[in-house]
Amino acid sequence: MTPALNREFPPVFDGHEDFITQMKERPGGHPPLRAVPRDFLAESEEGHVDLPRAMKGGLGGCFTSIYLSTERAEMNALAFTMDQLNDVFRIADRSEGRFRVCRTVEEVRRAFDADAFASVFMFEGADAISWSLKELRVFHELGLRVLAPTWSRSTIFAHGVSFEGKLPESGLTDLGRELVAECDRLGIVLDVSHINPAGFWDMIETSANPIIATHSSVKAISPHARNLDDDQIRAIANKGGTIGINFATFFLRPDMQGDADVPVDVVLRHFDHIINLVGDEHVSFGTDFDGAPIPAFVKDATGLTAVLRAMKASGYSDARLERICNGNFLRVAAQVWK
Ligand SMILES: [Zn+2]
Repeated sequence: MTPALNREFPPVFDGHEDFITQMKERPGGHPPLRAVPRDFLAESEEGHVDLPRAMKGGLGGCFTSIYLSTERAEMNALAFTMDQLNDVFRIADRSEGRFRVCRTVEEVRRAFDADAFASVFMFEGADAISWSLKELRVFHELGLRVLAPTWSRSTIFAHGVSFEGKLPESGLTDLGRELVAECDRLGIVLDVSHINPAGFWDMIETSANPIIATHSSVKAISPHARNLDDDQIRAIANKGGTIGINFATFFLRPDMQGDADVPVDVVLRHFDHIINLVGDEHVSFGTDFDGAPIPAFVKDATGLTAVLRAMKASGYSDARLERICNGNFLRVAAQVWK
């Protein structure tokens, strides 16, 4: 029996999870990017999240990332995107209502109430969208509600953060500006987590809507290129957006190493930094479960309760916990999704 949703804290709606890259849904299967193919509906010791562990950890749902390796993006981004969307729908089909593809805030809240996992599609890179943008409308119909113009590489729309100085440092392309306008029109939330600084500022200026970082942490604590500096944090807050704190050890640790020995107070420092800078309406969870190494004390989705207990012990009010757990993401969603 799948356990009910743990209600010790408000349900967590997570900004970014990569579990679909690790699930094996099609009869013929496809090579997973990492680890052993798993069944999302069965409890496993592998990876970070499946339905039973989500329920035990109070994880009520997430932006489910559709991610393409660079090889797949170049081979046939559209086909591999359809594969993953299909995989997610298949999990929902088998779940007897315990895993739901949600398209509205009301559907997310209803899933919380029904002890079901609320999955909302996000694309981590717009590789499957062509110059005409025609695919975007269709993906929106299918439930796409969050879009990052690029992963840490280049698309026809934007350039990702460069780790080795290999990517252009320019901002949004002309097509990228059209993409932003079309997302605004359709009601798709824009995600700046992987974009380079010039693209970040172009998105801030170009979009009329609140913008989010689904899975980035604080550069003042860990100076990783994927993290956000204080000016960027203020800009996201000024537009009414929120930042999902990434639990990847190299984005949390001041030394940017992958070592899983990360104490809970280091995780809390990232939340505290944003709260002290711009207030608690602009910080959320963006764990990167099943996409990156995470602190040993968290271990998997069940460990969210350990983080939340530490937040409560450090004096976070119930109202603040509600905003961090789901209120901030759902506020932005209610404003942008049409
Ligand atoms: Zn990512």
